[in-house]
Amino acid sequence: MSLSKRALKRQRKLAEWEVRVETLHQKYPRLGEISRLFTQMSLEIAMLGMGKGKMGMTQEELLQAQEALQAEKNMLLQKNKLPENIYDVWWDCEKCQDTGFRGVGEKCSCLLQEEQEVRWQFSRLTPEQKEQTFNSFSLEWYEDKARYRTILQQCIEFAEKVCAGEKTENLFLCGSIGTGKTHLCSAIANYVLQAGLKVVYLKTGTILDMIREYKFNFEKSEILSPHEFKAFYQVGLLIIDDLGTEVSTDFVREQLFYLFDERINYRRPWIISTNLMPNEIGTMYEDRLSDRILGTSRILKFTGTSIRQLKAIKAKAINNVSS
Ligand SMILES: [Zn+2]
Repeated sequence: MSLSKRALKRQRKLAEWEVRVETLHQKYPRLGEISRLFTQMSLEIAMLGMGKGKMGMTQEELLQAQEALQAEKNMLLQKNKLPENIYDVWWDCEKCQDTGFRGVGEKCSCLLQEEQEVRWQFSRLTPEQKEQTFNSFSLEWYEDKARYRTILQQCIEFAEKVCAGEKTENLFLCGSIGTGKTHLCSAIANYVLQAGLKVVYLKTGTILDMIREYKFNFEKSEILSPHEFKAFYQVGLLIIDDLGTEVSTDFVREQLFYLFDERINYRRPWIISTNLMPNEIGTMYEDRLSDRILGTSRILKFTGTSIRQLKAIKAKAINNVSS
């Protein structure tokens, strides 16, 4: 929510509060009276302080009277089953009263949460991917645990460098389906998002569709704003899934080359996840493109049986035992 939207929301809340109190006092006139008396007495206490009291009561008497009014008010609220906070403005966030800030320039947790949500939506991670973290990455399924521990470590290091804005190699995750590439890509994405940076995670085909739509249908492009379009080239971290599944045409190769080249120029890192092995990249793409892809990247190979299959087999075995 933008700041002006927040200001509008605050105004709405305040207006709602005024109407609510007014309606309450119409329905329960005694409550209105109590409220007016209470205010009068507060004023009188202030006047007494300046030696200008008019009611002929001492400060102590006034305070006692206020206490009695307060008690009567509470009793009336209770008797009529009205909420205790009926006189409060009902902010969504009490801490910042919906301003988004606590003190000068200090963002409230509600604003940080909101910004995180926006970044998360922008990243296009699925809800399932949002749950995939380094912590939830299990080595249990791998035979060669030492190698995958190293891969995990390299992914963590990469994520840390991206967050710190340090120069880093890109990552090239290759291997068969279901071997944990997506989980680690998502884990890196979540780590970087958590640190407040922007990430975009997309399948190669989707990126190319978007570029095509943007280039050829610029006037009426609904799926991509210029801002989002620019993001492919400049976003803090770009994760490209399924490289190699796209239909290869001159246009596609040209756009991919341009994309990687731009990101190199802007010094923006990326991750590629693909079923293709490095030698297959060399066969599939011309030299200048495969150079951009492989020459800039650390290659992490995922081999072995699909974890998805292993999990399914285990689940089945447990079902058989329990039934
Ligand atoms: Zn807040």
